[in-house]
Amino acid sequence: MPSVHIIGGGVAGYTLARELVRQNYTGTITISDPQGLPYDRPPLSKSLQVEPFAPVAWYAEHGINLIQEEIEDLAVPDEADDWVVLATGTTPNLLQVPGAEHARTLHTAADATALAQVLDASMFGLQVAVVGAGLIGAEFASTASMLGAQVTLISNTESPLAAVLGQELAEQLHADHAQRGIRTITGTVSSFEADHVVVDGERVEAALIVSAIGVQPETSLASAMGLSVEDGIVVDEEQRSISHPQVLAIGDAARVQGARRAVHWEAAMEDAAQAAATIVNAAPVQRSVPWFWTDRHEMHVETVGDFSKSASTVIRRNRRGKIQTVFGLDATGTLVAASMVDGGLMAKAVKRLIARGITPSIEQLEDPGVGPRDLGRNEQ
Ligand SMILES: Cc1cc2nc3c(=O)[nH]c(=O)nc-3n(C[C@H](O)[C@H](O)[C@H](O)COP(=O)(O)OP(=O)(O)OC[C@H]3O[C@@H](n4cnc5c(N)ncnc54)[C@H](O)[C@@H]3O)c2cc1C
Repeated sequence: MPSVHIIGGGVAGYTLARELVRQNYTGTITISDPQGLPYDRPPLSKSLQVEPFAPVAWYAEHGINLIQEEIEDLAVPDEADDWVVLATGTTPNLLQVPGAEHARTLHTAADATALAQVLDASMFGLQVAVVGAGLIGAEFASTASMLGAQVTLISNTESPLAAVLGQELAEQLHADHAQRGIRTITGTVSSFEADHVVVDGERVEAALIVSAIGVQPETSLASAMGLSVEDGIVVDEEQRSISHPQVLAIGDAARVQGARRAVHWEAAMEDAAQAAATIVNAAPVQRSVPWFWTDRHEMHVETVGDFSKSASTVIRRNRRGKIQTVFGLDATGTLVAASMVDGGLMAKAVKRLIARGITPSIEQLEDPGVGPRDLGRNEQ
C-alpha cells in the first residue's frame, strides 16, 4: 500500500496530513513526533496556552497513525509510491555564556506550560528577564507583563526586528514596551546566575530568565539520511529534497534552492499544501505574498511582503501621530512590503497590490483617509 511518513507534527506536518485527507489519499499516513498530539506554536508565546490542531479522535477517524517517537535515522523510500516528508521545524539558539543553563527557552508546549506554572504560582511583581526582543521575546515579555511580572527585556540592538517589520515601526513597537511598564536594555549578556543576568557589566535581577535569541533549522535527521543541508534541507519548488525525489521537506526546516528560508506559519502551511500536490500529482500550489503576524500588548501587528527588498519607506500615521502602516518600496519605487498595526484589511489590500504589481502614489500611501479598498485605485 502507498504510504506517507511525516516526521514532525508542527503546522507543516499536520497540514500535510489534513490536505492528504481532503484529497482522498488512499495510502497509509503516519506522523512521528516525540511531542505527541500535534499542536500550534504561535499561541505558546501569546497566551502560554497549548492548542492542539485536532483531537486524537480526528486522527483515528481518518486512519492516521500518530506515533510519539523521535526519528534519529530513516532509510529513503525504495518504492515509487512511498514518501518520507521531513517537517522537523527549528531548534532554539542557545547563548554560549557562563550559566546559560539558568535560561529557559519558549519553543515547545512543555516550555510554555512550565513558564505558565512559574508565573501563575509567583507573587505579583516576579522579576523576569527576557533575552532577545525578536518576535517571541517581545511576545513573551508582553504576556509575562500582563500576568503581573516585572519584566526586563534585553536586546543587543536598538531597534530589534527592523529588518522584518521596517525600521520605523520596529522602533515604535520597541518603545511601546517601556510605556507598558517593561524595562528595555540594549546590551550584550555576558553571564547568567540563577537569580540574575549580567548585561554589559550591569546586574539585572531575575527570578525567571527566558532566552529567545532566534532559531535554526532542525536538520539532524536530514543529515543522518545524507540529504543536502544548507541553512535548511534544500528542496525544489515541489518540496522534493534535491538529494532524493521521494523525500520531501516542508516548513521551517526546508529551504527552496536559490531562495531565502521562510520561518513563518503561513509559509509552512503552503509548503504542506505543495507537498500534498506533489504526492497526489496535482497542479502546483499558487504561492501567496509572504505574510506573518505577531501580537503584543493587545496590538495585532502584520507584515506582508519582504522588507529586505525595500530601499525606502513611506509612513502612514493615525491622528495621534502613531505609525499605523510602514510601506516599503524597492529601488525602482515599487511596493514590496508593508507592516501595520491592527490593520487586517490593510494587510489584505497590500497583499493584493504586491501580487498585482500595483504601487499606489506616495500621497495615497501616506493618507490615512484613503481606505485599504481604495488604495491603488486609478493607479497601475
Ligand atoms: C513560541 C512561538 C510563537 C510563534 N509565533 C508566530 C506568529 O505569531 N506568527 C508566525 O507567522 N509564526 C510564528 N511562529 C513560527 C511558527 O510557529 C513556525 O513557523 C511554524 O511552527 C513552523 O512549522 P513547522 O511544522 O515547520 O515546524 P514546528 O512547528 O517547529 O514543528 C516541528 C516538529 O517536528 C518535530 N521533530 C523535530 N525533529 C524530529 C525528529 N527527528 N523526529 C520526530 N519529530 C521531530 C518537533 O518535535 C516539532 O513538533 C512562532 C513560533 C514559536 C516557537
